[in-house]
Amino acid sequence: MENIVAVVLTELLMTAFISYLIFFSLKRRNKFTYRDFSIAVIALSMMASMLDSITYYLAFPVTFLNAVIALNISMFEMSIAVIYLLWISFSKKFIGYNTSVSNTLIFLIVFNEVSMGIFLRLIAFGYYPTSSDYSLLSNVFSVISSSLNSYLFIVPMVAEMAVVIAITIESSLNRLISLSIMIQSLFSPTFLGNQGFVLLGIILGTGSMIFFMIIFYERISKGRTSLFPGDMRKMRNIFLLYTLMSASIFIGTLYHSPFYPGWALYGITMVVGMIFYLHIHFPIGEPDKKRTGWIKNPRFVFMILLTSFISEWFLAASIEFQAYAPYFANGFQNFIVFSNLLGGVTVFTSRSVIVDIFYIFGAVPNYYIFLTIMGIEMGALVLFRMRNIQWKEKRVNLALALIAFALYTTIYPNFIGNATYSKLPLWANVGALAPLYPYMVVSLLGSYVLYAVLALLFGRRSYCSTLCPSAVMYGGSFGQSMISFNYESEFSRKNIGSRFKGWVISVISSLWVIMIAVSLLSYLTASRVGSFDLYGIDVSVYFSFFIWNFLWYIFFISIPFVGMSPCRRYGWCTTGTFVGFFSKIGLFKLKVKDPATCVTCPTKDCVSACEVGLGDLAGQFIKTGEFKSAKCVGAGSCLEACPYDNIFFYDIRNFLKERKTKN
Ligand code: SF4
Ligand code: SF4
Repeated sequence: MENIVAVVLTELLMTAFISYLIFFSLKRRNKFTYRDFSIAVIALSMMASMLDSITYYLAFPVTFLNAVIALNISMFEMSIAVIYLLWISFSKKFIGYNTSVSNTLIFLIVFNEVSMGIFLRLIAFGYYPTSSDYSLLSNVFSVISSSLNSYLFIVPMVAEMAVVIAITIESSLNRLISLSIMIQSLFSPTFLGNQGFVLLGIILGTGSMIFFMIIFYERISKGRTSLFPGDMRKMRNIFLLYTLMSASIFIGTLYHSPFYPGWALYGITMVVGMIFYLHIHFPIGEPDKKRTGWIKNPRFVFMILLTSFISEWFLAASIEFQAYAPYFANGFQNFIVFSNLLGGVTVFTSRSVIVDIFYIFGAVPNYYIFLTIMGIEMGALVLFRMRNIQWKEKRVNLALALIAFALYTTIYPNFIGNATYSKLPLWANVGALAPLYPYMVVSLLGSYVLYAVLALLFGRRSYCSTLCPSAVMYGGSFGQSMISFNYESEFSRKNIGSRFKGWVISVISSLWVIMIAVSLLSYLTASRVGSFDLYGIDVSVYFSFFIWNFLWYIFFISIPFVGMSPCRRYGWCTTGTFVGFFSKIGLFKLKVKDPATCVTCPTKDCVSACEVGLGDLAGQFIKTGEFKSAKCVGAGSCLEACPYDNIFFYDIRNFLKERKTKN
């Protein structure tokens, strides 16, 4: 690095200058005069114009013309500021601190930051990574990208953010959002301006993003009816920012060479983050007076779920892409198949655009990186919920679900590369990770036998509420807060009740026929009797990807519109309907200690608490004193909700006790 003294001095002065101006503007916000505004605008414009004119002067050959242009850049920028101030003064538009004041200050602060980044890049390295082979636009992008994607830009920006957080008294949500943006910026994969920090930066940034997402999710779950609309908007915006950041990281890792063009969008995203950050500190409008919560606002929850899924998908894919970056050329079509499917690092041969997108989209959630990210996030919410559960059996159940998720993620029973695990009878489903090789038939069938026996003895909860990863996805504080959508969503209301509707039965039957067919085709292909691959991918893998890596997430994200537990209610999970069937014919059922209590019970809380929308629960209790349904996953929310502690689970343990008593 060159001119280190000048670089450090500029950074220190700019950080102090911008921090002071922010402090000055915030302090005087409630009595902001035209004079205050003019001071801020002139000071910021002056600084930016100086930086821009010097940058131009240093970047181009020293000629008389270039010296004149450099001077004019400064004059031009200052003139705009002065004309703007005069216009406001003459038109008597200034009415104190308002939207346009806030936007002007934010624009000028960000403009200064970017100008400083471009200036520092030049004096520190003496050149921009431009080339006469590039178009003018590419060169402009390269200049901007190399200036933003560097510690020279990031460090002062983070320092200013830290100062602002320290000096302003804010609501805890504002502080959390500010901290999140600040830490996210600090962990920028492009901090070093080269590949050196990219992988570590993505991992650290992912960790920080997940940490804050967990906190926001917990707040959202508690604020079902009590969040302020403004706070909901802020949370939605920070999730949108996460998505933008993750998408730009993904592009940076996919187009990793040369470095700067691929990361241009990420640099711009950091600037967007800064704008959002400043908007938090320069708020406009009156504070909210009424708490509305999100119960009547399914779109809010939908956006949160959608943006977090997209962010996590991009981050997981980016970690994988970056890990393999040295081995593949830019672009999807050159991507290397993740080592889990074909048992090693293999060059991905492009098949057709749709198949490529389908395959890569489905492969990411299948891999342990995505599952780890998702598991940490949703698992933390399960732990939050466990703190408030008194019922010991449910705590044990959730703990088992967490362990199952962790094992499923880390040792992956179906892992094709590990002959021991793939022979264990712990298959989630057909084609989860591999074609049906003959040596896997016994373990696959063994899995179904095991799940059937467990369902006969303990009900569907043995799989759906314990072993299946969905138990963790639905079982946390946030998942539980979405149960209210069962009766808010119209689609869900139409499918309430213990019996599957006719259309759901058609879905169940069709999918079972398809699953058996693809299993046979997969077996025949794997045994080399015939070849039934589609574009080189086994048909059972398509099936598995479609059901669990597409449909599952699409429905999960759509819970605000389709109600809770869609995989259990709408019949497309073949494993779920399988265990549901054995649960129905098995020993498991819900019973009440006293049906008469249900008759007089005014609230019927068990019904509204049910995860799968078993609306006839109370009616059945009154009629028969018990309840049985293929849909019931034994989540136990009804037991917890019953104010009279009237419900209990009946399974093999009760059956054996009864037998013992009789004998
Ligand atoms: S229905 Fe399927 S995906 Fe849903 S909880 Fe049950 S086994 Fe898991
Ligand atoms: S089970 Fe409990 S909540 Fe449900 S109707 Fe009976 S007494 Fe009421």
